[in-house]
Amino acid sequence: MKKLFILTAILCVSLVFSQNPISGINMLKNAKWPSQSSGKTIINVSWENPTADNAQERQWVKEAVEYAWEANTNIEFVGWDEATYGTKGIRILVNDYAHPHTKGLGTQIDGLENGMELTFNFLGSYKCPTNREFCIKVIAIHEFGHALGLAHEHNRTDCLCGEEPQGTDGGFYVTPCDLESVMNYCNPKWSNFGQLSELDLIGIQKIYGKPGNLKDLVELDEIRLVPCGNNTIYDLHQMKQIVKNNPNFDVTYYTEEDKPVPQKAVNNLPNIYTIRFFHPDDEAKANDLKNMLVASGYAERDIAIENMLPKMSKTYPKYIEIWKK
Ligand SMILES: [Zn+2]
Repeated sequence: MKKLFILTAILCVSLVFSQNPISGINMLKNAKWPSQSSGKTIINVSWENPTADNAQERQWVKEAVEYAWEANTNIEFVGWDEATYGTKGIRILVNDYAHPHTKGLGTQIDGLENGMELTFNFLGSYKCPTNREFCIKVIAIHEFGHALGLAHEHNRTDCLCGEEPQGTDGGFYVTPCDLESVMNYCNPKWSNFGQLSELDLIGIQKIYGKPGNLKDLVELDEIRLVPCGNNTIYDLHQMKQIVKNNPNFDVTYYTEEDKPVPQKAVNNLPNIYTIRFFHPDDEAKANDLKNMLVASGYAERDIAIENMLPKMSKTYPKYIEIWKK
């Protein structure tokens, strides 16, 4: 297994940006496949050289990818037929002498001929010391991680281990450093034996949403609940629960104002609830939040949105407040 592990480390050397190197900043986001208005991300997969002889192996790849990535996200892989001129999406070449790799991350390989190479018979220097079906499936899950835009986890500056970084650090760290990631060479279990780790799941769902999400995930850094009187606290907690249970919203922190709010400020609130935003990026998010609350039964006329930017001087804090009269 150690030998395989080292080979795995080698295999992705060629993976790394053999073309179109891009900035590490927010690379995952830039490499993200676009979602449709329904929220679903549909990615076409095709084979450059399918044969009747490798139908079983192609089926293993499809099953592994569906099991690991499709079942846990709002992604649907479609097609799985033969690529022709101009075919979009992920194009897989079966090359029995190849080191499995992709020629870029995420949409970098959209429509790229031989954008991913897989080996089914391991006739080159890359060997499968165990069960061939197991190797084919584990490798497919790792390579499809790249195809979805994921860089190697051990490349992160906050995730150093004994392995040499392979390719550019992704830059956009969706979750904390994860030794158990299927994308981490330092994982003592080779590609985590094809099982997405807990943080793999959280990370990929942040990017592509959970199964059945209606639209892209709205990431809110923090929601501050500002009750203005004892009788308003319970109501805000209800609201917090609604946001928490909504799969389209991802909030890092909920905090609660513990200082009494001056009556004058309360009187100046235009509506029963006021959503205040302080950062230029948060205007759309505040609107999404309002729409979500309205969809959950709150009356639109009761909720106002207040743009606090004109009152900011130099800093733009990343939080949204919900005030309740
Ligand atoms: Zn890799």
